[in-house]
Amino acid sequence: CSLSDESFLSSSLGIIYSLDELWGAHAGQVDLAVGSLVWTEDPEVTWLDGEVEEVNNEEFKIYCTSGKTVVAKASNVYPKDAEFPPSGVDDMTKLAYLHEPGVLYNLKCRYDINEIYVNASYHCYYFMQLYSFSFGSGTYTGNILIAVNPFRRLPHLYDNHMMEQYKGAALGELSPHPFALADSAYRLMINEGISQSILVSGESGAGKTESTKMLMQYLAHMGGRTTTEKKRSVEQQVLESNPVLEAFGNAKTVRNNNSSRFGKFVEIQFDQRGRISGAAIRTYLLERSRVCQVSDPERNYHCFYMLCAAPTKDIEKYKLGNPRTFHYLNQSNCYELDGVDDSKEYVATRRAMDVVGIGSGDQDAIFRVVAAILHLGNVEFAKGEEPDSSEPKDDKSQFHLKTVAELLMCDEKSLEDSLCKRVIMTRDESITKCLDPNSAAVNRDALAKIVYSRLFDWLVNKINYSIGQDPNSKTLIGVLDIYGFESFKTNSFEQFCINLTNEKLQQHFNQHVFKMEQEEYTREEIDWSYIDFIDNQDVLDLLEKKPGGIIALLDEACMFPRSTYETFAEKLYQTFKEHKRFSKPKLARTDFTISHYAGDVTYQTEFFLDKNKDYVVAEHQALLSASRCPFVSALFPTLPEESSKSSKFSSIGSRFKQQLQALLETLSATEPHYIRCVKPNNVLKPGIFDNSNVLHQLRCGGVMEAIRISCAGYPTRKPFHEFLTRFRILAPNALDVSHDEVIACKRLLEKVNLKGYQIGKTKVFLRAGQMAELDAQRKEV
Ligand code: ATP
Ligand code: MG
Repeated sequence: CSLSDESFLSSSLGIIYSLDELWGAHAGQVDLAVGSLVWTEDPEVTWLDGEVEEVNNEEFKIYCTSGKTVVAKASNVYPKDAEFPPSGVDDMTKLAYLHEPGVLYNLKCRYDINEIYVNASYHCYYFMQLYSFSFGSGTYTGNILIAVNPFRRLPHLYDNHMMEQYKGAALGELSPHPFALADSAYRLMINEGISQSILVSGESGAGKTESTKMLMQYLAHMGGRTTTEKKRSVEQQVLESNPVLEAFGNAKTVRNNNSSRFGKFVEIQFDQRGRISGAAIRTYLLERSRVCQVSDPERNYHCFYMLCAAPTKDIEKYKLGNPRTFHYLNQSNCYELDGVDDSKEYVATRRAMDVVGIGSGDQDAIFRVVAAILHLGNVEFAKGEEPDSSEPKDDKSQFHLKTVAELLMCDEKSLEDSLCKRVIMTRDESITKCLDPNSAAVNRDALAKIVYSRLFDWLVNKINYSIGQDPNSKTLIGVLDIYGFESFKTNSFEQFCINLTNEKLQQHFNQHVFKMEQEEYTREEIDWSYIDFIDNQDVLDLLEKKPGGIIALLDEACMFPRSTYETFAEKLYQTFKEHKRFSKPKLARTDFTISHYAGDVTYQTEFFLDKNKDYVVAEHQALLSASRCPFVSALFPTLPEESSKSSKFSSIGSRFKQQLQALLETLSATEPHYIRCVKPNNVLKPGIFDNSNVLHQLRCGGVMEAIRISCAGYPTRKPFHEFLTRFRILAPNALDVSHDEVIACKRLLEKVNLKGYQIGKTKVFLRAGQMAELDAQRKEV
């Protein structure tokens, strides 16, 4: 598109005023004649484009570019931009028709020429009210960057030369890019002294983590010190925290070869001069079950395979060998990743650990614990001598048990007891109960999971400690890389928590882009009735309200010894039978469905109770806190008697809810920027753009809504006085006749023949492009 933003908009919007026509204007509402270029919905490819051949009442016969001829109802035919540039436009708001097929087609055209970034701007004037500072012209153009995963390396896009180009360039001057977004966040922070946040979202494999790394790379470039301090500078540590956390928190899944199995918020703190002065990393909900359960063709966490590929001396030290010999790894047939050499990754991870301040002693302890987990998984159980008891199955199991004890530096017999027995405390005495082989295996897995999750938390804490926080920092830029909305065939507690996260972030987004905009219109008593954005507060109440929400009921169920998932499901059915957002699927006995903002998801309650319980088996705690290795014993600090009693039941759901609350509080003190990552296909291959897949993601991410609002509202607002000062020249008589500013503004607007504007209580509200039109008229006078 060769026209500038404003003039293009004014030319396209000059003729279209009502929202219906602007957004999703179909043939029933706009005049489409024979020969018009159109889009029509198609169940297979989502949208077909073509030319109208015949119009019969409410039906259109369309000759499609695919060669097909279709007949479609008027309500299913949308105008196609006749002057659409072959390479698409870099900002969605430059499209003449902002409807789904237009947006989708634009993304596809861009993608086909390796232009993977497209902006979707929206205007947010309300910052001025919010923070009482002004952004020059009065309207700040907020931005959503849409990033489509290229599934191929495009190194030229991210090198130093590129970073230099984006440094200080006005947003929109260069092609859309995460660097452009990071640059505008950085400059807003410096110029206005306000903290910023960049929220990266999208489904698994869409490119969130890659985008996050680019943002951090750019911010490190901007806020780094060019002086002699090289290694272990704060920015270097921030960057190197990525490979460390990825080694322990990422794994190959069917959706992504390097899938982050945890959420992450990195807070980069800056000093007065805009230099990075500290950082804090918060992580959310590491997937624990993967440590002992992997399904083909997925993998366990990367660190296990790296360690099995370590140099011989390490392999011997940890008594390791082929990953195929370990139960926690060989449940799947996938051991290697295309293009990844685990032995090199091992060395690289250790190097990154050096940079983030993890000394060689700690590194040794970390890998010792990782090795211990692998050996632990190989301890199998057989029936013991006493009824319903168990013992290590054979010499092999005994060997692994012994190795675990050596690596964790704990007593071998106590380890065996902690796996095969359970002490039950009654009021008067303690009774030792034997576990059958099955329960012992479950108990073993519980130990592996808790050790791994404590190890992961230790890493995060250590990184935070060694990077250090800057207590004097006044401004920060937060980068959020968190799991997107999930809806699978079976959905469990993890999906429930993930979707709760997305509901919360969606609300934040809604509030930011829509609610505040709407509030301003309401304040100004402007007609706003036509914007139908959906508030999801009702879903949030259903999920997390205390008391009475699903999480609260789940906690209750977890505390009652006799509750089962069946009684929990029954309780949900009774409590929410009238709730609009809750339903019980037909024929289901224990499933429930939630109508999320992004669609319906049916959850299976079967493991909800177990997965919500966050406790350490007392025997495991006692065993490991007594370890002779200070690293291991520090992973299991002994809690004072009182607090351990009171925290007997700790709920993962409730804790996660609190973490989310804290995150949202941090976010609301910042000015948000958004990157919506899109995964163009499910085969993770370059060059394939699957329309229906992409469309679904755009809908789920709220992108369509935001684009719609950006053009549907009144992005330009001027207080009456300012408006008159600027444009009185267009109607010099207007003010002479009346001293009332409102009347004068009305007269002026009538005189210049503008339509579709609104007069508020204190301001004139103009449609997109109208200001440009008035300016043009002013220049002519
Ligand atoms: P998850 O939720 O599973 O963690 P994600 O959204 O973080 O997924 P990434 O790990 O960032 O996804 O990306 C998946 C893969 O896609 C990367 O490993 C990389 O191969 C490819 N990829 C993503 N973005 C880019 C990019 N900008 N350039 C080249 N390849 C990319
Ligand atoms: Mg990721």
